[in-house]
Amino acid sequence: MAPVAWDVIVAGAGHNGLVTAAYLARAGRRVLVLERRELAGGCAVTEEIWPGYRVSTASYLTSLLQERVIADLELARHGYQVDAKDPAFFSPFPDGRYLFMWQDAGKTLAEAAKFSARDAETLPRYDAHLERLARVIEELLLVTPPAFPPRGLADAVEYLKLAARLRGLARNDITALVKIFTMSVSDYLDEWFESPELKVTLATDGVIGANGGPRSPGTAYILLHHCMGKVGGRRGLWGFVRGGMGAVSEAIASAARSYGAEIRTGAAIRRFLIRNGKIDGVVLDNGDELRARAVASNLDPKRTFLELTPAGELDPEFVRSIQQFRCQGTSTKINFALSALPEFACLPGAPAPQHRATMHICPSIDYVEQAWDDAKYGRPSARPLLELTSPTQYDATLAPPGRHLLGVFLQYSPYHLRNGTWDEQREPFARAVIDLIEEYCPGFRGLILEMQVLTPLDLERRFGLTGGNIFHGEMSLEQMFVMRPVAGWARYRTPVRGLYLCGSGAHPGGGVMGAAGYNCAREMLKDSV
Ligand SMILES: Cc1cc2nc3c(=O)[nH]c(=O)nc-3n(C[C@H](O)[C@H](O)[C@H](O)COP(=O)(O)OP(=O)(O)OC[C@H]3O[C@@H](n4cnc5c(N)ncnc54)[C@H](O)[C@@H]3O)c2cc1C
Repeated sequence: MAPVAWDVIVAGAGHNGLVTAAYLARAGRRVLVLERRELAGGCAVTEEIWPGYRVSTASYLTSLLQERVIADLELARHGYQVDAKDPAFFSPFPDGRYLFMWQDAGKTLAEAAKFSARDAETLPRYDAHLERLARVIEELLLVTPPAFPPRGLADAVEYLKLAARLRGLARNDITALVKIFTMSVSDYLDEWFESPELKVTLATDGVIGANGGPRSPGTAYILLHHCMGKVGGRRGLWGFVRGGMGAVSEAIASAARSYGAEIRTGAAIRRFLIRNGKIDGVVLDNGDELRARAVASNLDPKRTFLELTPAGELDPEFVRSIQQFRCQGTSTKINFALSALPEFACLPGAPAPQHRATMHICPSIDYVEQAWDDAKYGRPSARPLLELTSPTQYDATLAPPGRHLLGVFLQYSPYHLRNGTWDEQREPFARAVIDLIEEYCPGFRGLILEMQVLTPLDLERRFGLTGGNIFHGEMSLEQMFVMRPVAGWARYRTPVRGLYLCGSGAHPGGGVMGAAGYNCAREMLKDSV
C-alpha cells in the first residue's frame, strides 16, 4: 500500500475547492488538489475557445466573492481586479421605451420615474430595506449551520446565538425576512411597486438559476441572494473581472500555491478510498491510488455520494436523501464572438452605455412566467428570459482588436426534456434565441462570428454539474442552511469520517462566493485535520 503522502486531498479545483486548499495549506497542511479538467476553476474559468477570444464560458459576473476571502488570501496581490458594472441594468421594451439602472441613485430614480413617479419615490426605501435584510443574511454566509434537528444543550446554544443575530432587527424587518424566504419574487415586488417594467427588471435576479418562475414561492430569496455581494465595498454591485472569471480562480490558485498546495489538472477521480468507515484517499481514472488523512469534495453532493463513494459505505436512508436532493438545471449559456456590438432598435448606437450593462430581454413578469410554463412541462422556453453581457466593454484584451464577446445567460431550458434530447434541440433552440435578440437588435444575426451553446446537458458534461444545475443543487428553502445538502449533514462533515463537502452543494450554496470553501476549511481545522 502506498504511504499517506497528503494531509488533505481536495477533489475538484472549482473556486471553492481552491479556497479550501489555500486556507488549509496556509495552516501548514500538505494539500493536493485534483481536477479532472485540464484547467482549474470549475464554473469560474476563462477559456480560449476560439483563437484570440478568452471567454468566461460559465459564470460571467462577480459580486458574491467574500471580502474576508479576498483579504485573507490577498487576492488583489494575486491579480484579482474588478470593474463594477455601470449601468447595472438596461431593459428595452417592445413599445420602444427602455429603463436603465445606474450606480448613481439619482440617475436611476429619474429612469424609474419615466414609468412611475410613485415607484421612483419608493425605490430608495426598497433599496435600504433590502440592504438591511442582506446584511443579516450576509452574516450567516460564513457561519456553520447549527445541527438540525437540535439534540443537546450545545445545539440549543447555537440556535440562541443565531437568534441573537436577529436582535437588532425591527419587527417589520423580521416579518420581511420571513416573507422574503417564502414568497415569490413577483408577489414580493408587488408589495412595493406598480410599474411592470421596473418590477420585471428587478425580478430577473429572483429567477436566475431557479427551477421556478417569478410566481413560484421561494424566488424572492434568490433575489436577496443576488443582492448580498459587493464590489469595491459597495453593496449590491456586480462587476466584470479583468481577464474573465478564470482570473478569480487563478488568483485563488496562486495564493494556494504560495502556501505550498499542489494543484494537478487532468486528474479525474474515479472513486474515494474508504477503509473501516474512514476516508483513506482517492483512486484516479488511470488507476493511481493517492492516500490522504482527509478529503474535501468540491463535487456536487450527488456526484460525491452516488458516484465517487463506493456503494455500501453509506446508510441507505442517507443515500435516499441525496437521491432526493433536487438539482435539475434550467439555464443555458450561449457565448458569442461578434464583429460589432448589436444595436438596439429602441436606442441605436454602439458602443453605448447599454452595452456596459446587463441587458435584459424579458419585457414583463407574465413573459417570464410563460417562459417558465414551457419549462415546467419539459419544453425549452419558446421565448426565454435573456441576460446579455459584453465583457469586452470592460476588458478589450479578451477579444482580438475590433471584435467583441457577448454572453447570453438564459432561463429556461429544462435538463429533462419531454420530447427529444438536448443534442437534438441545441441548434433549434439557439436559432430561436438569435431570432429573439434580432427582434430587439435588428441585424444581430449578421454580426455573429462564433457561437458556443451550453445547455444544461452541456453544463453537466463540461463542468461536471449533475443535472446541469448552476448552483450544485436548487436554492430552495428546503435545501438551504441547516438543510443543505440534506438535514443533519449541513456542517461540512459527511457520514464518512474524514470526508468533507466544500462546494456549492453545502451552505451557503451557489455563486462565486468562496464561502462554502472557507467554512469547510475552518471545520476541518477544528477537527484537527
Ligand atoms: C452558466 C453559469 C453561469 C453562472 N453565472 C454566475 C455568475 O455570473 N456569477 C456567480 O457568482 N455565479 C455564477 N454561476 C454559479 C457559480 O459559477 C457556481 O455556483 C460556482 O462557480 C460553483 O463553484 P464550486 O467551486 O462550488 O464548484 P465547481 O465550480 O462546479 O467546481 C467543481 C469542480 O470539480 C471538478 N470535478 C468534477 N468531477 C470530478 C472528478 N471526478 N475528479 C476531479 N475533479 C472533478 C469539476 O471539473 C470542477 O472543476 C454560474 C454558473 C454557471 C454554470
